[in-house]
This record gives sequence, C-alpha cells and structure tokens, in this order.
Amino acid sequence: MNDPKVDIIYEGAFLFAETLVRTDVLIRKSNGWKLVEAKCSSSVNENHRNDIAIQYYVLKNLNIKVSEAVIAHLNTDFVFNDQNNDYKNLKIEKNVLETIEPKTPLVAEWIKDLLPITMENSKEPDVGIGDHCKDCQYLDRCKSKTHLANVDTPISILPLVGKRLEKKWLDKKIYDLRDLPKSEFENYQDKEKYLIIQNCHQNNEEWIRPDFIEKLKNYAWPRYFFDIESVMQAVPIIPDTKPNDPFPFQYSVHKWKFEDQEITLEDSKQFLEFNSENMDRKYLEKLIIDLGNDGPIFAHNASTEIKALSYLVKRKNCIDLTNKIENIKTRIIDTAKLFRENFYNVAMMGSYSLKDIIKILPNASSYSSEYDQVGDGGDAMIKWFEYTNPNTTNKEKQKIRENLTNYCAKDTLNLFLIFKYLYSRGR
Ligand code: SF4
Repeated sequence: MNDPKVDIIYEGAFLFAETLVRTDVLIRKSNGWKLVEAKCSSSVNENHRNDIAIQYYVLKNLNIKVSEAVIAHLNTDFVFNDQNNDYKNLKIEKNVLETIEPKTPLVAEWIKDLLPITMENSKEPDVGIGDHCKDCQYLDRCKSKTHLANVDTPISILPLVGKRLEKKWLDKKIYDLRDLPKSEFENYQDKEKYLIIQNCHQNNEEWIRPDFIEKLKNYAWPRYFFDIESVMQAVPIIPDTKPNDPFPFQYSVHKWKFEDQEITLEDSKQFLEFNSENMDRKYLEKLIIDLGNDGPIFAHNASTEIKALSYLVKRKNCIDLTNKIENIKTRIIDTAKLFRENFYNVAMMGSYSLKDIIKILPNASSYSSEYDQVGDGGDAMIKWFEYTNPNTTNKEKQKIRENLTNYCAKDTLNLFLIFKYLYSRGR
C-alpha cells in the first residue's frame, strides 16, 4: 500500500481488533482509496452493506483513508457480444459510503458480541431452534443436540408444512410424524396427502393410488425420458447471453418403445457442448430428432425443461424452430407432479426429488459428488466452468465429458426404472 506504483490491490487482507477482512478490490485515488465489494447478485441488499461496513471499519481503524466505497453488482440488462469482447457495462456500482459510515459504531458492537464465541473452547450460546434458523447451515448440527436427533420420522419431512409443524409441536414434546394427531391436518388443502404420508409411516407400507398403474399403462408408445442441464454465468462468455441466464448445454433422452424393453445407461441420446458456434441451434435440432414426432415425454420437475426450451427457441438463430419446440413442450409430462399425486413410499421420507425417489429401487444408479463425479445440477454447472477454463487440459476435459454424460444419463434412466418399479407393483 505504501508503494505509490501499486494502484490496485485485489483481495487485500487487513486485521484490526482480531477481525480479518479481505477486500475484493482497492483502487488508489488522488484523495484516498476506492473500496469495491463485488457481488454476483442483481441488486444490493442489507447483508451486502453490512459486509462492506465491516471492511470499512477495519480499514478506517488502520488509518487507511477510504474516499469512496461501492458495491458492484451485475447489470442484468448487459448482453455479452463476442465481437467486441467488452465487459464495460457488466457491472453497476452503487455508492454506499454515506450509508455505511453511520454503521461504524454498530460494527464495533457486532465484533464485541461475536468475538467471545470464536475463542477456543468457548461456550455455545444458549439459543433454541426457532424461526431464526431458517436457511442456517448449522441446523442439522443444532438439531443433533435436541430430541429431534433420535426421531425416526421427523414431522419436518412433511412437504411444505413440515418445518412449521415440527416447531409447533416441539413444546408439547411430540417429535415424530407418527404421533401427530390427525386433526392437525384438518385445515390444510393437502390434508389427504399428509394423512397418506403419515399412514404409510405408521404402517410401514407403500401407497399407490388404485388407478395409477392403469393410468401409466395407458400412456402412448413410444415414451421418452428427458433431462436438461444448464449453466448460469455471472460473467457471460457465450455470445448473446446475459448474466445468470440459465443456458442449456446438455440433455439426455432415453426412448422406451414397448413395455418389456430393457434400457441401459448407454442407450441415452445426448447433446453436450460447452461454448461452440451455433450451439443453441445444434442443441434444438438434435433434440427435435431425438424426441421424435409423438409420444409422451417424461421429465422430473418439468418446468426447468420447459423454461430451458422456451429460452433457447427465442434466440434469434432458433426462432424458425418455434413450432416444433412448442409441439415438444405440449408432450412433456411432469413426473414430480405425477408421483406426488399418485404414489408414496416410506423410503422417500417426504421428498419427491428424483434422488430420494430412487431410494425405493434396488438397482438404481446412485449419485455421488465424490472423486470428481457429478452428483447434482450444481456439480454439472461447476463442470461447465472447469471445462471452459483455459487452463483445463484436454485429458481433464475428456474426464469432465465422461462424468457429465454419465450423470445426465442416470437421471433419465432412473425415471425409466421408477416406471418399471411401478409396473411391477401392479402385477
Ligand atoms: S440452527 Fe443456526 S440459527 Fe439456529 S440455533 Fe443453530 S446456529 Fe443458531
């Protein structure tokens, strides 16, 4: 900092009052330093202001003059154009010096309150689980210290209302869904569903709506299982995309032609590109072929697939494919909705995510994020970033391709296996 030739400092580390901050960017100005806190959100919120206020407090107490403090966030109107490679308008800077200056006394209080709990062997604060725990990453740990840790079927597994009911019945010492009075569900629109889930756990049995297998059998042939992976780029490198546009770069389609047909992972038809010319059009053209002209298309939480197709087909070099893509969209059936309305197994523990439903299958392909594999959509997105990193070697790229191909195929194969399982329950 004392070297006048240094004009910009990235990720500088500063320590005051046992509080370490890393400032994203410091830019030397004629009258002090410009402090920049970079966020990949589309606007500024109070947490961002508190974040930069702590940095400002530390710098100020170290006698570093901050003449400007800004939060830089993404400009959602920015469109990346690879012709001029210009990111000038990617960010919007919001000047916050005037709003964070008055927070300085508060920051001193925050540090005073929080420092004791950072000390080795310090006592944990005596605070029970409650509304303040929403989204807290330590929830499982805190629960493990209460009665809830040893409950077989926590009330919280109930879709939508579980967490609320768990808290409500905590004081009455009712922790297990099986012990909850049935009258509790009386006023809920999904009363029938909650009673079904509770009943399954009480009797350790599976529930299938009586006409469901027949309904499955009546779907036309061929049938398709379909899954999409997308990437959201904070700093777009795909031409004509905006920050955080969910851009589809992969799909898997499994085709099921007749009831007794067996399907394997290798039968998946796929598209997988990272940032190639005309990639959007190539994606849709191949998809139109792979999904044929008719037959139902099953996708889990299908709104993702429908939105992704709508996004791609609106791009200027894909518009002429609109009719074909609209036809595909009308054939899509959401299996999450289908299963939610017609089926429950205790192994699912209240969840209709594909990864939880497959717990009922003895031979399902399981998911793992270990050893560089792809375990979920978040991992798939990270692989896209790794692949497009200029430092990634060809060997590493090859591995990424294999892992992504395997992951996406698993999703569609597992849907097929769930159908087979349900068929077997109807025999
Ligand atoms: S779950 Fe989080 S917010 Fe709730 S008591 Fe534990 S640490 Fe505090």
